[in-house]
Amino acid sequence: MKQTSFYPGPSTIHPSIPSLVKDAYDTGILSANHRSSDFMELSFAAKSQLRSQLNVPDDYDVIFISSATEAWEILPQSLTSKTSQHFFNGTFGLKWAFTTENLGIEVIKSPFNVNESLPIDQINSLADWLCVTACETSNGTMVDQNVLQELFSRRLPHQLIAVDATSALGGVILNFQLADYWFASCQKCLGLPAGLGLLIVSPAAIERGRLLGERSHYNSFLNLVEHARKEQTHYTPNVLNIYLLWRTLAAGPSIVVTDRRLRDRMVGLNSIIESNGALDWLVSNVSLRSPTVITLKTSDPMELKERALSQKMILGNGYGAWKENTVRIANFPAMGDIQFQIFMEWISNL
Ligand SMILES: *Cc1c(COP(=O)(O)O)cnc(C)c1O
Repeated sequence: MKQTSFYPGPSTIHPSIPSLVKDAYDTGILSANHRSSDFMELSFAAKSQLRSQLNVPDDYDVIFISSATEAWEILPQSLTSKTSQHFFNGTFGLKWAFTTENLGIEVIKSPFNVNESLPIDQINSLADWLCVTACETSNGTMVDQNVLQELFSRRLPHQLIAVDATSALGGVILNFQLADYWFASCQKCLGLPAGLGLLIVSPAAIERGRLLGERSHYNSFLNLVEHARKEQTHYTPNVLNIYLLWRTLAAGPSIVVTDRRLRDRMVGLNSIIESNGALDWLVSNVSLRSPTVITLKTSDPMELKERALSQKMILGNGYGAWKENTVRIANFPAMGDIQFQIFMEWISNL
């Protein structure tokens, strides 16, 4: 029996990938130039599928980049005039703040506790951007859409909102209208091999880009947008992943169905954890838990991972500050319900 990876990214990919890769090969798209009409049609098809499946607003632009980390850089480089405020409670949010700082932007750090909600009352009027991590993959917390709604309604007129949606996009319902700059890598909830990122931006973000007019980098924002609007990219893109994105989205259910399915699995797991003495949630407040990255406290993560491995299940290490006392388990859509069921049975028998 093959091992099942519950690692939160790269994680288990869609089981259809091998045959889709063969399809991609057979169509010849992998050998086509990225200025060709074949590529432009594929780009259009993949984005249209994404728009309809995830309810991306019509007036938002979808741009292919290489990773979420790249999006951390594009924002300060091309879209921030002076100051960026970062709300974070874990390692990915903090790394984003560091990336911004290193590019010479003034950063206001607004850390918060994993068991507290994002401190909306700390919005700083100096900030051009308010930066939020939707699902903090390092600790399994989530900024609920209601909290984002609150941030959206309290922000000042000159402030735009950026969301790192890496462990959320494709797994949970997102209201894109509540922010201007959304991004994700495809190896988390989208269930694809790594190497493709998505940037989804509002008209206001594009206007900000035009105002600043930054054009001195290979991935300057305006250059990305202008090519994306022609269904092209200025660099040679990951055509295989764009193809796989299109096909897996086309074969999958709408985000409403996926969101429900992941939350139901969480609820099932919760009742097991609550009656289990050896394991507990890192985040005690249910409304702050991410449905996509399950983070459990245990006194001996090494032992737990070894026991799981003997049953052919790979659990994720804790991350950053939580490395020594947690394990992380991806509850991503590409993970089959049967595999998840097997995992739950194993947990309940511990
Ligand atoms: C995985 C992850 C990233 C980094 O993704 P890359 O593909 O390595 O750039 C950024 N933010 C969050 C929240 C993540 O989970």
